[in-house]
Amino acid sequence: MQAVIYDLHMHSNASDGALPPDDLLELARASGVDVASITDHDTVAAYERIDSARHSGLRIVPGIELSTTWQGRSIHVVGLGIDPASAAMTGAVRVQAGARLERARKIGERLDRLGVPNSFQSALDIADGAVIGRPHFAAHLVNTGFVRDARTAFRKYLGNGKPGDVRCSWPDLERVVRWIRDAGGTAVVAHPSKYGLTMTKLRALLSEFAGHGGRGIEVACGLQAPALTRKLGTLAQDLGLLASTGSDFHQPGNAWSRPGLFDPLPRNVTPIWEQWTTTCA
Ligand code: AMP
Ligand code: MN
Ligand code: MN
Ligand code: MN
Repeated sequence: MQAVIYDLHMHSNASDGALPPDDLLELARASGVDVASITDHDTVAAYERIDSARHSGLRIVPGIELSTTWQGRSIHVVGLGIDPASAAMTGAVRVQAGARLERARKIGERLDRLGVPNSFQSALDIADGAVIGRPHFAAHLVNTGFVRDARTAFRKYLGNGKPGDVRCSWPDLERVVRWIRDAGGTAVVAHPSKYGLTMTKLRALLSEFAGHGGRGIEVACGLQAPALTRKLGTLAQDLGLLASTGSDFHQPGNAWSRPGLFDPLPRNVTPIWEQWTTTCA
């Protein structure tokens, strides 16, 4: 029997992804995904746009990727199985939208000071109604010729320690996990290897996260070294956390990123979806 593919981390154009939600889900299905979650940054707007009739072969798990600040760093927490229409999610999304707008103004001021003209308004225009994020500033930097591509924009202007990296913008871990739980969902630390944390710090983050009721970590996220997948699997097992999988897909056109593209879970972990399994009589 073919293994069921769970892609529980993907972005639509409601945040910084390229595809409208229905196109994203169709691509996911065509790529072999059986269970999908659109986890946009700090918004659930995709779920108001989905035409379920177009996705009969696909199981959809409503999700979100929330930004939080922990010890001065931005950490991402995925919420899976949330009710997008719940009071908790509606409230969360409102707070995060305010934080994103305020941060975007600051990023804009900083870029303007560096001689990049009209950054805030241009990034807003590029976002075109999506929640605004650093990738929209990256696109502006590319459009104005300041950098050659988004990668360089992050390296020179927007990434860790650069002028566009505004610190401490987000609510704390406890609040973010609570939003997810109150919305009926399961909280999962996204891409644990992407924060530049030492193993000691990562364990500290995860034990604090578990203390607030967080349940899982992404053991397989996009294309990563199989040794890393094994290491994260062992970490999940050690800490009693469930294991999730996702591509963190944003846009077509990269051979290294598509829906469903990630390692299978190691055998020693408990998959996050085990708690969702329903038995049929
Ligand atoms: P934000 O949520 O506004 O802080 O923006 C973070 C997003 O920027 C991530 O989710 C990625 O989609 C994108 N991103 C982060 N680092 C890079 C990079 N080095 N190159 C291109 N995009 C990046
Ligand atoms: Mn993103
Ligand atoms: Mn992320
Ligand atoms: Mn993501």
